[in-house]
Amino acid sequence: KKAKSQGKRYLFFDRNMSESVAQNLGLENRLRRALANEEFLLHYQPKVDLVTGVISGMEALIRWQSPDEGLIPPLQFIPLLEETGLILDVGHWVLERAAADLRSWQEQGVEVPGIAVNVSALQLRQADFVRQVKGAIQQGGSRLTLDLELTESMVMSDVEDSLVKLRELRELGLGVAIDDFGTGYSSLSYIARLPIDVIKIDRSFIVKMIEHPDDMMIVSTIITMAHNMRLKVVAEGVDSTDQVDILHGMGCDEMQGYLFSKPVPALEMLGLLRRGARFER
Ligand code: C2E
Ligand code: MG
Ligand code: MG
Ligand code: MG
Repeated sequence: KKAKSQGKRYLFFDRNMSESVAQNLGLENRLRRALANEEFLLHYQPKVDLVTGVISGMEALIRWQSPDEGLIPPLQFIPLLEETGLILDVGHWVLERAAADLRSWQEQGVEVPGIAVNVSALQLRQADFVRQVKGAIQQGGSRLTLDLELTESMVMSDVEDSLVKLRELRELGLGVAIDDFGTGYSSLSYIARLPIDVIKIDRSFIVKMIEHPDDMMIVSTIITMAHNMRLKVVAEGVDSTDQVDILHGMGCDEMQGYLFSKPVPALEMLGLLRRGARFER
């Protein structure tokens, strides 16, 4: 009897599994088509200097304009892109697209403070990753620079390989940020030795900061520590003026969040730059 009920459970589980496999296969095929049909696009979210209020940079964030389902956010498809290795092609496309937007804005006479692109672990581990980046920033004769956002766990998964590549990238003039800082198992001694420029404090700390003294303390410690290492600090997910006041008081350099602007389509980003949009405290 026992065996039978276990068997049933197994069948039930198995059916769900094959359904999800089928769903993922469908999604995988649609993602392949999405790349071929140019259904991906980049939105841009400005970063703001906490002292002057001017736009000090921006982050490129991928979206999928699906013909069936509309605009799909990255957390719904990046994991499958990573599982299937499609992230390599899509990630390459993101680099090229961001560089092309930057080039086109500059050609229109707009001063662009810099674009940061998110990179996946698989992408960084590619033997020719630096060459891909170089290709993107050198296209069309003129030379640009981009910034890259990596997570601690990506870098730590192969420190030697990361160190070599990060040095080469910085020699090309790229800035490197550690994204979602505080969520991984940070080893401060490693961070101190990495050739990086910026630490982005994860939104989860910024959200809880006002109500939880522990998080407030963590944020202020990260800022102090980063400054001692001569790194710039960006606070992610700032959505209230109280947070701005606190971060400003702590000497945080920049902020990014819905309070100033959600991620917006390229044309809107261009508009923000053109009219010199500023954050007024
Ligand atoms: P991330 O790199 O940490 O990007 C920040 C995310 O926080 C973005 O979500 C942004 O829209 C969101 N955000 C910013 N300010 C606020 C705020 O005030 N409130 C709230 N609730 N959210 C805020 P998004 O665009 O959905 O991207 C999610 C994640 O997907 C990114 O996290 C990044 O890890 C990944 N991602 C996005 N684009 C790419 C890409 O081109 N390549 C790779 N490999 N990953 C990407
Ligand atoms: Mg990021
Ligand atoms: Mg982040
Ligand atoms: Mg984050």
